[in-house]
Amino acid sequence: MTQTPRLSQKISAIAESATLKVDAKAKALQAQGRPVISYAAGEPDFPTPQHIVEAAIEAARDPKSHRYTPAAGLPDLREAIAEKTLRDSGVQVGANQVIVTNGGKQSVYEAFQVLLNPGDEVIVPTPFWTTYPEAITLADGVPVDVFADASQNYQVTVEQLEAARTERTKVLLFVSPSNPTGSVYSPEQTKAIGEWALEHGIWVITDEIYQNLTYDSVKAISIVEAVPELAGQTLLVNGVAKTYAMTGWRVGWTVGPADAIKALGNLQSHLSGNVNNIAQRAAIAALTGPQDEAEQMRQAFDRRRKLIVSELNKIDGFQTPTPQGAFYVYPDVTALLGRSWGGVTPTTTLELADLMLDQAEVAAVPGEAFGPSGYLRFSYALGDDSLLEGAQRLQRLFA
Ligand code: PMP
Repeated sequence: MTQTPRLSQKISAIAESATLKVDAKAKALQAQGRPVISYAAGEPDFPTPQHIVEAAIEAARDPKSHRYTPAAGLPDLREAIAEKTLRDSGVQVGANQVIVTNGGKQSVYEAFQVLLNPGDEVIVPTPFWTTYPEAITLADGVPVDVFADASQNYQVTVEQLEAARTERTKVLLFVSPSNPTGSVYSPEQTKAIGEWALEHGIWVITDEIYQNLTYDSVKAISIVEAVPELAGQTLLVNGVAKTYAMTGWRVGWTVGPADAIKALGNLQSHLSGNVNNIAQRAAIAALTGPQDEAEQMRQAFDRRRKLIVSELNKIDGFQTPTPQGAFYVYPDVTALLGRSWGGVTPTTTLELADLMLDQAEVAAVPGEAFGPSGYLRFSYALGDDSLLEGAQRLQRLFA
Protein backbone atom coordinates (compact mmCIF):
# COMPACT_ATOMS: atom_id res chain seq x y z
CA MET A 1 0.00 0.00 0.00
CA THR A 2 1.44 3.38 -0.94
CA GLN A 3 1.37 5.93 1.81
CA THR A 4 0.61 9.59 1.24
CA PRO A 5 3.48 11.61 2.70
CA ARG A 6 2.31 13.48 5.81
CA LEU A 7 3.93 16.75 4.77
CA SER A 8 4.94 18.22 1.44
CA GLN A 9 8.03 16.45 0.14
CA LYS A 10 9.28 19.66 -1.45
CA ILE A 11 9.12 21.56 1.82
CA SER A 12 10.41 18.65 3.90
CA ALA A 13 13.56 18.70 1.77
CA ILE A 14 14.45 22.25 2.90
CA ALA A 15 17.43 22.37 5.21
CA GLU A 16 17.33 24.59 8.27
CA SER A 17 19.38 27.75 7.67
CA ALA A 18 22.87 26.76 8.90
CA THR A 19 23.80 30.32 9.77
CA LEU A 20 20.71 30.76 11.95
CA LYS A 21 21.41 27.35 13.54
CA VAL A 22 24.94 28.28 14.65
CA ASP A 23 23.73 31.63 15.91
CA ALA A 24 20.90 29.94 17.85
CA LYS A 25 23.36 27.50 19.45
CA ALA A 26 25.66 30.36 20.45
CA LYS A 27 22.74 32.31 21.91
CA ALA A 28 21.51 29.24 23.85
CA LEU A 29 24.97 28.85 25.42
CA GLN A 30 25.05 32.58 26.23
CA ALA A 31 21.65 32.19 27.91
CA GLN A 32 23.20 29.51 30.15
CA GLY A 33 25.76 32.09 31.24
CA ARG A 34 28.62 30.91 29.03
CA PRO A 35 30.74 33.84 27.71
CA VAL A 36 30.37 32.88 24.05
CA ILE A 37 31.63 35.31 21.42
CA SER A 38 29.60 34.85 18.27
CA TYR A 39 30.79 35.78 14.81
CA ALA A 40 27.79 33.97 13.35
CA ALA A 41 25.17 36.68 12.88
CA GLY A 42 24.69 38.33 9.50
CA GLU A 43 23.44 41.66 10.78
CA PRO A 44 24.85 45.00 11.94
CA ASP A 45 25.05 45.40 15.71
CA PHE A 46 24.15 49.12 15.57
CA PRO A 47 20.71 50.54 16.30
CA THR A 48 18.80 51.96 13.32
CA PRO A 49 19.64 55.69 12.90
CA GLN A 50 17.36 57.87 15.01
CA HIS A 51 15.82 59.94 12.20
CA ILE A 52 14.56 56.71 10.60
CA VAL A 53 13.04 55.54 13.87
CA GLU A 54 11.38 58.96 14.29
CA ALA A 55 9.85 58.71 10.80
CA ALA A 56 8.37 55.34 11.78
CA ILE A 57 6.96 56.70 15.04
CA GLU A 58 5.33 59.54 13.16
CA ALA A 59 3.95 57.10 10.60
CA ALA A 60 2.55 54.86 13.35
CA ARG A 61 0.57 57.85 14.71
CA ASP A 62 -0.90 58.62 11.28
CA PRO A 63 -4.07 56.61 10.55
CA LYS A 64 -3.13 56.65 6.86
CA SER A 65 -0.43 54.11 7.64
CA HIS A 66 -2.87 51.79 9.39
CA ARG A 67 -4.12 50.63 6.00
CA TYR A 68 -2.92 48.46 3.14
CA THR A 69 -0.63 50.04 0.59
CA PRO A 70 -0.55 48.86 -3.04
CA ALA A 71 0.93 45.34 -3.02
CA ALA A 72 4.00 46.58 -4.91
CA GLY A 73 4.67 49.29 -2.33
CA LEU A 74 4.04 52.97 -1.55
CA PRO A 75 4.45 55.10 -4.69
CA ASP A 76 6.85 57.45 -2.83
CA LEU A 77 9.04 54.55 -1.77
CA ARG A 78 9.11 53.07 -5.27
CA GLU A 79 10.15 56.51 -6.52
CA ALA A 80 12.88 56.79 -3.85
CA ILE A 81 14.15 53.32 -4.81
CA ALA A 82 14.23 54.27 -8.49
CA GLU A 83 16.39 57.29 -7.56
CA LYS A 84 18.66 55.17 -5.36
CA THR A 85 19.04 52.67 -8.19
CA LEU A 86 20.18 55.42 -10.54
CA ARG A 87 22.55 56.78 -7.89
CA ASP A 88 24.18 53.51 -6.87
CA SER A 89 23.57 51.05 -9.72
CA GLY A 90 23.77 53.53 -12.57
CA VAL A 91 20.55 52.48 -14.25
CA GLN A 92 17.56 54.68 -15.00
CA VAL A 93 14.24 53.02 -14.13
CA GLY A 94 10.67 54.12 -13.62
CA ALA A 95 8.75 53.47 -10.39
CA ASN A 96 6.78 50.78 -12.30
CA GLN A 97 10.05 48.84 -12.51
CA VAL A 98 10.30 48.59 -8.72
CA ILE A 99 8.54 46.26 -6.29
CA VAL A 100 8.92 46.60 -2.52
CA THR A 101 9.38 43.24 -0.79
CA ASN A 102 9.51 41.87 2.71
CA GLY A 103 13.32 41.98 2.72
CA GLY A 104 15.95 40.91 0.24
CA LYS A 105 15.14 37.33 1.16
CA GLN A 106 11.64 37.61 -0.30
CA SER A 107 13.10 39.30 -3.39
CA VAL A 108 15.42 36.35 -3.94
CA TYR A 109 12.65 33.80 -3.46
CA GLU A 110 10.22 35.60 -5.76
CA ALA A 111 12.85 36.25 -8.45
CA PHE A 112 13.42 32.52 -8.94
CA GLN A 113 9.67 31.82 -8.82
CA VAL A 114 9.06 34.31 -11.60
CA LEU A 115 11.96 33.32 -13.90
CA LEU A 116 12.27 29.55 -13.64
CA ASN A 117 10.46 26.68 -15.31
CA PRO A 118 11.00 23.11 -14.06
CA GLY A 119 14.53 21.91 -14.77
CA ASP A 120 15.96 25.35 -15.62
CA GLU A 121 19.53 25.71 -14.40
CA VAL A 122 20.89 28.57 -12.32
CA ILE A 123 24.63 29.12 -12.14
CA VAL A 124 25.55 29.83 -8.53
CA PRO A 125 29.04 31.19 -7.85
CA THR A 126 30.28 29.30 -4.80
CA PRO A 127 30.79 29.94 -1.86
CA PHE A 128 27.16 31.13 -1.90
CA TRP A 129 24.70 32.57 0.59
CA THR A 130 22.80 29.63 2.10
CA THR A 131 19.37 30.71 0.92
CA TYR A 132 20.02 30.68 -2.85
CA PRO A 133 20.04 26.91 -3.54
CA GLU A 134 16.90 26.42 -1.45
CA ALA A 135 15.10 29.26 -3.25
CA ILE A 136 16.12 27.78 -6.62
CA THR A 137 14.97 24.27 -5.70
CA LEU A 138 11.66 25.62 -4.40
CA ALA A 139 11.11 27.14 -7.85
CA ASP A 140 11.79 23.70 -9.42
CA GLY A 141 15.12 24.95 -10.74
CA VAL A 142 18.51 23.26 -10.54
CA PRO A 143 21.42 25.05 -8.84
CA VAL A 144 24.73 24.56 -10.65
CA ASP A 145 27.64 25.44 -8.36
CA VAL A 146 30.77 27.05 -9.80
CA PHE A 147 33.45 27.13 -7.14
CA ALA A 148 36.20 29.74 -6.75
CA ASP A 149 38.68 29.29 -3.90
CA ALA A 150 40.77 31.70 -1.83
CA SER A 151 43.55 31.77 -4.44
CA GLN A 152 40.99 33.30 -6.87
CA ASN A 153 39.81 35.66 -4.16
CA TYR A 154 36.56 33.66 -4.33
CA GLN A 155 35.70 35.15 -7.74
CA VAL A 156 34.56 33.00 -10.66
CA THR A 157 35.91 33.60 -14.15
CA VAL A 158 34.09 33.72 -17.48
CA GLU A 159 35.92 30.49 -18.44
CA GLN A 160 34.45 28.72 -15.42
CA LEU A 161 30.97 30.06 -16.19
CA GLU A 162 31.26 28.98 -19.82
CA ALA A 163 32.29 25.48 -18.74
CA ALA A 164 29.13 25.28 -16.60
CA ARG A 165 26.76 26.60 -19.28
CA THR A 166 24.29 24.16 -20.87
CA GLU A 167 21.16 24.49 -22.99
CA ARG A 168 19.17 24.64 -19.76
CA THR A 169 21.11 27.57 -18.27
CA LYS A 170 18.50 30.25 -17.60
CA VAL A 171 19.94 32.46 -14.87
CA LEU A 172 23.29 33.59 -13.53
CA LEU A 173 23.40 34.72 -9.94
CA PHE A 174 25.83 37.59 -9.37
CA VAL A 175 26.63 38.78 -5.85
CA SER A 176 29.18 41.51 -5.24
CA PRO A 177 30.06 42.21 -2.43
CA SER A 178 29.50 38.60 -1.52
CA ASN A 179 28.10 36.91 1.51
CA PRO A 180 29.97 34.83 2.79
CA THR A 181 33.34 35.96 1.38
CA GLY A 182 33.14 39.78 1.29
CA SER A 183 34.72 39.61 -2.15
CA VAL A 184 34.04 42.47 -4.61
CA TYR A 185 34.41 41.97 -8.37
CA SER A 186 36.42 44.61 -10.23
CA PRO A 187 34.65 46.70 -12.91
CA GLU A 188 36.54 44.76 -15.61
CA GLN A 189 35.51 41.35 -14.27
CA THR A 190 31.94 42.55 -13.79
CA LYS A 191 31.82 43.76 -17.38
CA ALA A 192 33.30 40.52 -18.75
CA ILE A 193 30.75 38.43 -16.85
CA GLY A 194 27.89 40.72 -17.90
CA GLU A 195 28.90 40.52 -21.55
CA TRP A 196 29.02 36.73 -21.33
CA ALA A 197 25.46 36.65 -19.91
CA LEU A 198 24.25 39.06 -22.59
CA GLU A 199 25.84 37.06 -25.41
CA HIS A 200 24.11 33.88 -24.29
CA GLY A 201 20.72 35.40 -23.43
CA ILE A 202 21.04 34.43 -19.78
CA TRP A 203 19.05 36.29 -17.13
CA VAL A 204 21.03 37.80 -14.28
CA ILE A 205 19.81 38.06 -10.72
CA THR A 206 22.20 40.47 -9.05
CA ASP A 207 22.03 40.68 -5.28
CA GLU A 208 23.28 44.16 -4.38
CA ILE A 209 22.29 44.19 -0.72
CA TYR A 210 25.88 44.95 0.37
CA GLN A 211 26.63 47.50 -2.39
CA ASN A 212 27.05 50.41 0.04
CA LEU A 213 29.44 48.49 2.28
CA THR A 214 32.76 48.59 0.45
CA TYR A 215 36.22 49.64 1.63
CA ASP A 216 39.61 50.82 0.36
CA SER A 217 37.82 53.24 -2.03
CA VAL A 218 36.53 50.26 -4.00
CA LYS A 219 33.14 50.60 -5.68
CA ALA A 220 30.99 47.53 -6.32
CA ILE A 221 29.86 48.44 -9.80
CA SER A 222 26.46 47.08 -10.75
CA ILE A 223 26.46 44.54 -13.58
CA VAL A 224 23.83 46.67 -15.37
CA GLU A 225 26.05 49.73 -15.08
CA ALA A 226 28.95 47.73 -16.54
CA VAL A 227 26.76 46.34 -19.36
CA PRO A 228 23.70 48.60 -19.84
CA GLU A 229 22.21 46.31 -22.53
CA LEU A 230 21.65 43.73 -19.77
CA ALA A 231 18.90 45.84 -18.19
CA GLY A 232 16.15 43.96 -20.05
CA GLN A 233 17.24 40.62 -18.57
CA THR A 234 18.39 41.55 -15.07
CA LEU A 235 16.64 41.61 -11.71
CA LEU A 236 18.39 43.72 -9.07
CA VAL A 237 17.82 42.66 -5.48
CA ASN A 238 18.46 45.12 -2.67
CA GLY A 239 17.16 46.40 0.67
CA VAL A 240 17.72 48.65 3.66
CA ALA A 241 18.80 45.90 6.08
CA LYS A 242 22.58 46.04 5.89
CA THR A 243 23.31 49.68 4.96
CA TYR A 244 20.99 51.20 7.57
CA ALA A 245 21.11 48.55 10.31
CA MET A 246 17.46 47.71 9.59
CA THR A 247 17.43 43.89 9.48
CA GLY A 248 14.37 43.69 11.69
CA TRP A 249 12.25 46.15 9.69
CA ARG A 250 11.90 43.84 6.68
CA VAL A 251 12.08 46.12 3.69
CA GLY A 252 13.75 45.05 0.47
CA TRP A 253 13.02 45.49 -3.22
CA THR A 254 13.49 44.16 -6.70
CA VAL A 255 14.16 46.31 -9.76
CA GLY A 256 13.86 45.00 -13.30
CA PRO A 257 12.04 45.07 -16.63
CA ALA A 258 8.38 46.06 -16.34
CA ASP A 259 6.97 42.67 -17.45
CA ALA A 260 8.95 40.79 -14.80
CA ILE A 261 8.02 43.35 -12.11
CA LYS A 262 4.36 43.00 -13.08
CA ALA A 263 4.64 39.22 -12.70
CA LEU A 264 6.35 39.67 -9.32
CA GLY A 265 3.51 41.98 -8.27
CA ASN A 266 0.92 39.36 -9.19
CA LEU A 267 2.79 36.73 -7.18
CA GLN A 268 3.27 39.01 -4.20
CA SER A 269 -0.37 40.14 -4.20
CA HIS A 270 -1.34 36.56 -3.33
CA LEU A 271 1.68 35.71 -1.20
CA SER A 272 2.06 38.54 1.29
CA GLY A 273 0.46 41.68 -0.08
CA ASN A 274 2.19 44.91 0.84
CA VAL A 275 5.14 45.25 3.19
CA ASN A 276 4.35 46.80 6.58
CA ASN A 277 3.20 50.33 5.80
CA ILE A 278 5.11 51.90 8.72
CA ALA A 279 8.34 50.13 7.78
CA GLN A 280 7.93 51.41 4.23
CA ARG A 281 7.77 54.98 5.55
CA ALA A 282 10.90 54.33 7.58
CA ALA A 283 12.60 53.08 4.41
CA ILE A 284 11.71 56.34 2.62
CA ALA A 285 13.45 58.22 5.46
CA ALA A 286 16.47 55.91 5.15
CA LEU A 287 16.86 56.40 1.40
CA THR A 288 16.09 60.11 1.18
CA GLY A 289 17.39 61.41 4.56
CA PRO A 290 20.92 62.16 5.79
CA GLN A 291 23.46 59.43 5.06
CA ASP A 292 26.06 60.35 7.68
CA GLU A 293 25.16 57.65 10.20
CA ALA A 294 25.27 54.98 7.50
CA GLU A 295 28.72 56.29 6.61
CA GLN A 296 29.83 56.14 10.26
CA MET A 297 28.72 52.51 10.47
CA ARG A 298 30.63 51.75 7.30
CA GLN A 299 33.75 53.28 8.79
CA ALA A 300 33.34 51.22 11.97
CA PHE A 301 33.05 48.05 9.84
CA ASP A 302 36.18 49.06 7.97
CA ARG A 303 38.14 49.41 11.22
CA ARG A 304 36.89 46.03 12.45
CA ARG A 305 37.66 44.41 9.12
CA LYS A 306 41.32 45.38 9.38
CA LEU A 307 41.45 44.22 13.00
CA ILE A 308 39.97 40.79 12.39
CA VAL A 309 42.00 40.06 9.27
CA SER A 310 45.26 40.90 11.02
CA GLU A 311 44.34 38.93 14.17
CA LEU A 312 43.14 35.82 12.29
CA ASN A 313 46.22 35.83 10.09
CA LYS A 314 48.36 35.49 13.24
CA ILE A 315 46.98 31.95 13.55
CA ASP A 316 49.04 29.30 11.86
CA GLY A 317 46.64 27.49 9.51
CA PHE A 318 44.33 30.43 8.79
CA GLN A 319 44.66 31.87 5.31
CA THR A 320 42.47 34.98 5.32
CA PRO A 321 42.16 37.12 2.18
CA THR A 322 41.35 40.78 2.93
CA PRO A 323 37.76 41.27 1.76
CA GLN A 324 36.72 44.62 0.32
CA GLY A 325 33.02 44.50 1.04
CA ALA A 326 30.14 43.36 3.27
CA PHE A 327 31.05 42.49 6.88
CA TYR A 328 32.44 38.98 6.60
CA VAL A 329 35.84 37.39 6.35
CA TYR A 330 36.21 33.89 4.97
CA PRO A 331 39.49 32.20 5.91
CA ASP A 332 40.64 28.98 4.31
CA VAL A 333 41.39 26.70 7.27
CA THR A 334 42.01 23.41 5.47
CA ALA A 335 45.50 23.33 7.04
CA LEU A 336 43.88 22.85 10.47
CA LEU A 337 41.84 19.78 9.54
CA GLY A 338 43.22 16.45 10.76
CA ARG A 339 45.11 18.01 13.68
CA SER A 340 44.14 17.38 17.33
CA TRP A 341 43.17 19.66 20.18
CA GLY A 342 42.06 18.39 23.60
CA GLY A 343 41.71 14.87 22.20
CA VAL A 344 39.45 15.96 19.31
CA THR A 345 40.53 15.64 15.67
CA PRO A 346 38.21 17.58 13.35
CA THR A 347 38.26 16.47 9.72
CA THR A 348 35.58 18.89 8.49
CA THR A 349 34.89 22.54 9.26
CA LEU A 350 31.54 21.47 10.77
CA GLU A 351 33.57 19.60 13.40
CA LEU A 352 36.13 22.39 13.68
CA ALA A 353 33.39 24.96 14.36
CA ASP A 354 32.00 22.67 17.09
CA LEU A 355 35.43 22.34 18.64
CA MET A 356 35.90 26.13 18.65
CA LEU A 357 32.57 26.55 20.38
CA ASP A 358 33.27 23.80 22.94
CA GLN A 359 36.89 24.61 23.72
CA ALA A 360 37.16 28.38 23.15
CA GLU A 361 33.53 29.53 23.33
CA VAL A 362 33.83 31.13 19.90
CA ALA A 363 31.10 30.70 17.24
CA ALA A 364 31.72 30.95 13.49
CA VAL A 365 29.75 29.43 10.62
CA PRO A 366 31.37 26.40 8.92
CA GLY A 367 31.98 26.48 5.17
CA GLU A 368 29.54 23.59 4.68
CA ALA A 369 26.75 26.18 5.00
CA PHE A 370 28.02 27.94 1.86
CA GLY A 371 29.57 25.21 -0.26
CA PRO A 372 32.63 23.02 0.30
CA SER A 373 34.18 22.25 3.69
CA GLY A 374 37.50 23.87 4.59
CA TYR A 375 36.37 27.43 5.39
CA LEU A 376 34.86 29.44 8.23
CA ARG A 377 32.73 32.57 7.98
CA PHE A 378 33.33 35.26 10.58
CA SER A 379 30.97 38.23 10.66
CA TYR A 380 32.72 41.28 12.08
CA ALA A 381 29.47 43.08 12.88
CA LEU A 382 30.20 42.98 16.61
CA GLY A 383 31.86 45.31 19.12
CA ASP A 384 35.61 45.92 18.82
CA ASP A 385 36.41 44.43 22.27
CA SER A 386 34.56 41.16 21.58
CA LEU A 387 36.04 41.03 18.13
CA LEU A 388 39.55 41.12 19.52
CA GLU A 389 38.86 38.85 22.49
CA GLY A 390 37.38 36.11 20.28
CA ALA A 391 40.33 36.21 17.89
CA GLN A 392 42.74 35.99 20.82
CA ARG A 393 40.89 32.95 22.17
CA LEU A 394 41.40 31.27 18.80
CA GLN A 395 45.07 32.25 18.80
CA ARG A 396 45.43 30.49 22.17
CA LEU A 397 43.38 27.45 21.10
CA PHE A 398 45.30 26.87 17.88
CA ALA A 399 48.76 27.90 19.23
N1 PMP B 1 21.18 38.70 0.21
C1 PMP B 1 22.28 38.44 0.91
C2 PMP B 1 23.54 38.14 0.19
C3 PMP B 1 22.25 38.43 2.32
O1 PMP B 1 23.34 38.18 3.02
C4 PMP B 1 21.02 38.71 2.97
C5 PMP B 1 20.90 38.70 4.47
N2 PMP B 1 21.65 37.74 5.13
C6 PMP B 1 19.90 38.97 2.18
C7 PMP B 1 20.02 38.97 0.80
C8 PMP B 1 18.53 39.22 2.76
O2 PMP B 1 18.42 40.34 3.53
P1 PMP B 1 17.03 40.79 4.16
O3 PMP B 1 16.03 39.75 3.85
O4 PMP B 1 17.30 40.92 5.62
O5 PMP B 1 16.72 42.10 3.52
